[in-house]
Amino acid sequence: MPRIKFHSGETIPLEMHKVRIVQKLTLLPIEDRLKAMDDAGNNTFLLQNCDVFMDMLTDSGVNAMSDQQLAAMMIADDSYAGSATYTRLEAKLRELFGMHYILPTHQGRACENILAQTFVKPGTIVPMNYHFTTTKAHIVLNGGVIEELVKKEGLEVTSDLPFKGDIDIEALEALARKEGADKIAFVRMEAGTNLIGGQPISLANLADVRRVCDKYGLILVFDASLLADNLYFMKEREDSCKDLSIREITRRVADLCDIIYFSARKLGCVRGGGICIRDEGLYKRMRGLVPLYEGFLTYGGMSVREIEALTVGLEETMDEDMINQGPQFIAYMVSELLKRGVPVITPAGGLGCHIDAMRFLDHIPQAEYRAGALASACYIASGVRGMERGTLSEQRNPDGTEVFSNMELLRLAMPRRVFTRSQVDYAIDRIDWLYQNRKMIDGLVFVEEPEILRFFYGRLKPVSDWQEKLVAKFRADFGDSL
Ligand SMILES: *Cc1c(COP(=O)(O)O)cnc(C)c1O
Repeated sequence: MPRIKFHSGETIPLEMHKVRIVQKLTLLPIEDRLKAMDDAGNNTFLLQNCDVFMDMLTDSGVNAMSDQQLAAMMIADDSYAGSATYTRLEAKLRELFGMHYILPTHQGRACENILAQTFVKPGTIVPMNYHFTTTKAHIVLNGGVIEELVKKEGLEVTSDLPFKGDIDIEALEALARKEGADKIAFVRMEAGTNLIGGQPISLANLADVRRVCDKYGLILVFDASLLADNLYFMKEREDSCKDLSIREITRRVADLCDIIYFSARKLGCVRGGGICIRDEGLYKRMRGLVPLYEGFLTYGGMSVREIEALTVGLEETMDEDMINQGPQFIAYMVSELLKRGVPVITPAGGLGCHIDAMRFLDHIPQAEYRAGALASACYIASGVRGMERGTLSEQRNPDGTEVFSNMELLRLAMPRRVFTRSQVDYAIDRIDWLYQNRKMIDGLVFVEEPEILRFFYGRLKPVSDWQEKLVAKFRADFGDSL
């Protein structure tokens, strides 16, 4: 979205695309939303999508595809081995990242399985800026440990730091000096650091990581799942990138890495994944696992239609007008919520808008799940589905006590090119109303608590009749509006 100034002096995020296929949405009356939330055990993962007005649960596999991507699906070459469709993907990845060896996978975590099985041995360490859930799980499954070295500002909710995803380079160097290449499986850097609010890393920081890796003989692995947002932030916030094209920045990033992997559910707006490798030896160590877990080397578990659309999606990622839509809509939502006093993570990152439930609901004990209560209240008040990222998403200690999360967040993901500005304005308005009425919101308690991944399947209930009271207040304020 180019900078378009209105006559009024205001700037708004202006869509550089038009909509040619639509999906009908319904907005249930608030009484029905209360019933749906109750049926879902106050867990937004258990809602039926037909009961949701704006699905802001995730950006995974739900970004809008372009007409060119859909058209490309029709020319896909169906063959088990040696598909021309795959050859086109391989050529595009080589062109963009300058790495010769490519392994296709069915999604991002499959890349992590292959990397962890190949490089992580019991007792080895994987230093990284910050973990992602599936990354950590695969490393731990193979007997390794992760060492999170994100700069301390990365974990502060409000900050002016433009690159909150950067790694603490002194801490990385100290660890490398102490443990050496024998103990360190690889160094992992994650673009658009997912779990701390979609916060980007800088090109300068990645270059520093490269220097440490060279000095100590370490492999640098780059998780490019959220690269599109990160490229935009490098261009926008880093002086050395201002005059470079997105394609040139992509190449500078890639030139610093040994291995790049990605979830194509995010990068490229399709469903799939891949690993790009510079060195033939490293490639050969991983290659055998692809036919074992994914599929033959020229499809890796993806359908040829998805592969064809991915090739086009990767090329479209080089278009600044395409990749800035998400971050600009998020920045708009964050600044409008800030104007209304609603506590949010700053600066605005990629991925989505993150509401700080720790402050929003500071009257609720953390043991009654502030972020979970906010996710429930948000759906009831608006039909907007977000994701709890707080204590509910943690696992209890072996003795049964709660692990209180550092951050209590309601994540409202912004799937790319999916919502219009009036829909975003609607979400802002209802969250503002909720903030004005925040003292009415109270906590949740578990009625069914699974031992593992409780946030996916667990069921909760409100500690009092606060949800009915909230519905009554909504009716008093909005009359018969939905
Ligand atoms: C989503 C994601 C993954 C996992 O990808 P899937 O396609 O969901 O398996 C890995 N890393 C990051 C940073 C992600 O955002």
